[in-house]
Amino acid sequence: MNLYRSIAQAIKIGKYVVFFGGAGVSTECGIPDFRSSNGIYSRKFHYDPETILSRSFFYQKPNIFYSFLRENILKYMDVKPNKGHIILAELERAGKLKTIITQNIDGLHQKAGSNKVLELHGSLYRFYCTKCFKAYSYNDIKDFENVPLCCCGGIIRPDIVLYEEPLDQDVLSKSKEHIMRADVLLVAGSSLVVYPAAGLLKYFKGDKFIIINKSSTPFDDQADIIIHGPFAETMEKIMNELMAI
Ligand code: NAD
Repeated sequence: MNLYRSIAQAIKIGKYVVFFGGAGVSTECGIPDFRSSNGIYSRKFHYDPETILSRSFFYQKPNIFYSFLRENILKYMDVKPNKGHIILAELERAGKLKTIITQNIDGLHQKAGSNKVLELHGSLYRFYCTKCFKAYSYNDIKDFENVPLCCCGGIIRPDIVLYEEPLDQDVLSKSKEHIMRADVLLVAGSSLVVYPAAGLLKYFKGDKFIIINKSSTPFDDQADIIIHGPFAETMEKIMNELMAI
């Protein structure tokens, strides 16, 4: 049986299918990931991206933080979801996919029509004032020249998890519960080296652990099925098989 057919079979008979994804899910939309050869970490900046995207750097040098964010991340806010995002939304509507757990902050699953999305690292669609905690949307801040300021004078920050910050405990524990309940776990587009997100995979005790990723990951030897290929294209092939069985 071909691998696409095997994954389609697993999804078809699965009672509780959960998707776990990372930056590679959105590269086919043109958004660079972090660790691929042409990812954000391969580019030269005055400070390395992990430093810029840290809590201490944000509070010390918010102007450099925001220039980096605008030039490398916010510039992709208008991109459209790819076929893989759309297929996941279709699987949710069909009652097959119980939840999406994503490390992405780009909101593309919701744009594709998914409703059950747990965002481990927050979202670039939400911002808030660091002083009075007033909530802002991306549209509210996008026209600021550089550092967006609240009416109270506080600096507005994106509601994303920066390096040196813990993950939201509620999102983390809900993600853990879904993974524990899952009988099929489909993992895609993640190097699986960022913790605690990758650590969630150890809670999976179901039947089929499937990985779709361009490069190998530290979890490959635990997977039942692996496809080293592009996410959106692979999801289309799986969907074609699903329609045929
Ligand atoms: P990562 O950059 O560490 O790894 C991405 C993985 O995806 C790599 O292993 C790569 O081989 C694979 N990949 C790239 N394109 C692919 C494709 N088309 N199909 C299949 N696989 C593909 O990303 P990560 O593991 O998600 O961790 C990095 C952190 O970066 C995450 O926490 C995330 O929040 C953040 N991030 C998010 C975005 C986004 O929201 N779109 C973009 C960049 C980084």
